[in-house]
Amino acid sequence: MRRNYDLIVIGGGSGGLAAAQRAAEHGARVAVVEAGRLGGTCVNLGCVPKKLMWNAAMLAHHLDDAAGYGFDIGAVRHDWPALRARRDAYVERLNGIYEQNLRERNIDYLPQQARFESPHAIRAGAETLEGERIVIATGGRPQIPELPGAELGITSDGFFELPSCPARVAVVGSGYIAVELSGMLSALGADVCVFVRHDGVLRSFDTLLRDVLTASMQRNGIEIVNDCPIAAVRKSSGGIELETAHGSRKGNFDTLIWAVGRAPNTDGLDVQAAGVRLDAAGCVATDRWQNTNVDNIYAIGDVTGRLPLTPVAIAAGRRLADRLYGGCKDRHLDYRCVPTVLFTHPPIGTVGLTEEEAVDGYGQEVKTWVSRFVPLYHALTGEKPESAMKLVTVGPGEKIVGCHVIGPGADEMLQGFAVAVRLGASKADFDDTVAIHPTSAEELVTMR
Ligand code: FAD
Ligand code: NDP
Repeated sequence: MRRNYDLIVIGGGSGGLAAAQRAAEHGARVAVVEAGRLGGTCVNLGCVPKKLMWNAAMLAHHLDDAAGYGFDIGAVRHDWPALRARRDAYVERLNGIYEQNLRERNIDYLPQQARFESPHAIRAGAETLEGERIVIATGGRPQIPELPGAELGITSDGFFELPSCPARVAVVGSGYIAVELSGMLSALGADVCVFVRHDGVLRSFDTLLRDVLTASMQRNGIEIVNDCPIAAVRKSSGGIELETAHGSRKGNFDTLIWAVGRAPNTDGLDVQAAGVRLDAAGCVATDRWQNTNVDNIYAIGDVTGRLPLTPVAIAAGRRLADRLYGGCKDRHLDYRCVPTVLFTHPPIGTVGLTEEEAVDGYGQEVKTWVSRFVPLYHALTGEKPESAMKLVTVGPGEKIVGCHVIGPGADEMLQGFAVAVRLGASKADFDDTVAIHPTSAEELVTMR
């Protein structure tokens, strides 16, 4: 059987669903082909279950702090299986809501693996679908390094399947997932060791954020082992043992988590049947309008290898649909100045250029303001972790090109400041804004 559509979207994750729904709202006949669970990585194996785990970890930290505020709560036990069951039930509810959203917009949903047969035809199970246009939104998957014994480790996908909190965990990697998972596991009771192959975590982030996060992780009991590439993994009587490239051995862990980046889901798509060009990393190569090299085929989200974040995939998908079906000829996503939050302990919020990037681009014209302080929340707690903020400006007008925050509330604080930075606010604009007191955010408008 053959079916015809204006638009076929391959992948029902953040980007695919956003593009499909917006196109349907503009009147297009749309099909979504999704091999796994609707909602993709973000809903099932990423942002949503991760944030719920982070909330649990934050509660653990708050419980530690509670005595300082006069609470005598005695011994507390955490029930990981109960948390997992509630988390998974919530995600399942979301899967159903996403399916309902498709039905309400008359979008055909095919729960199948898709592959190209030609530039206009997709094979989905036993059916061939014909599409005037096709969007590739197949996302990515966690990478596992090719080294002996690597299969003894799990990835972030496996983290969400853990039946209980592991006692002793090795996390290999230094990016978003390494710092987020290690923080959550540590707060919920695991003994965590992070193995970093170069010098420190989050190498592409501003140094201030890296320094303060590293100190916080260490204060929370996380061991960070720098300059420690892993060469092999083996199972010993004591558990999992890591052999480093320098010849030393690290053990004994009951869980090993690889957090070394993600690979695009382009294998098995048969893109060559449509003539779609991939880049050296296997990502679908796109221009600023999400066009591939084939006229009627587009790509959005993680599969393009550009800023793998949910709101980026959604924004690219909606703008593409507005351009193709909504009469907005030049609509496209500007990938500069995208804010991002890391759900660490404490969280990080950051937008724009790091100080290092600004100096590379603007040299002497760069000026920075830094504030480091113990937030009022910690005035009464046993631990006194530092918060830190940095504004990076350029030129005599002191235009803000970077805003970096680590500390309680940074996750919720940054969205509004990102609007200001995007609108081209200067340091004087920040200074002219009356502070909200007593908050941590007020530091950003009172820096001297
Ligand atoms: P996906 O959401 O991955 O969707 C792609 C879909 O395509 C999948 O459902 C897949 O099953 C399907 N598919 C693949 N191949 C085929 C095929 N051949 N046929 C049919 N279907 C196919 N981002 C944030 O902004 N904030 C966060 O807090 C955050 N936390 C994260 C935590 C973790 C642990 C991870 C792994 C990621 C996190 N991300 C976060 C990143 C975010 O999840 C991704 O950027 C986002 O999901 C990308 O959306 P997408 O539509 O490009 O791909
Ligand atoms: P990242 O790209 O953030 O980090 C992976 C890092 O691991 C690399 O940068 C590299 O750092 C290190 N690495 C790579 N290979 C090895 C190796 N063999 N051994 C040791 N270390 C290695 O990838 P993640 O998987 O953490 O996350 C993928 C993406 O998902 C993120 O980039 C982010 O966009 C998104 N995400 C967003 C979140 C959020 O918004 N809060 C949360 C989670 C994910 P180095 O070169 O310094 O060693």
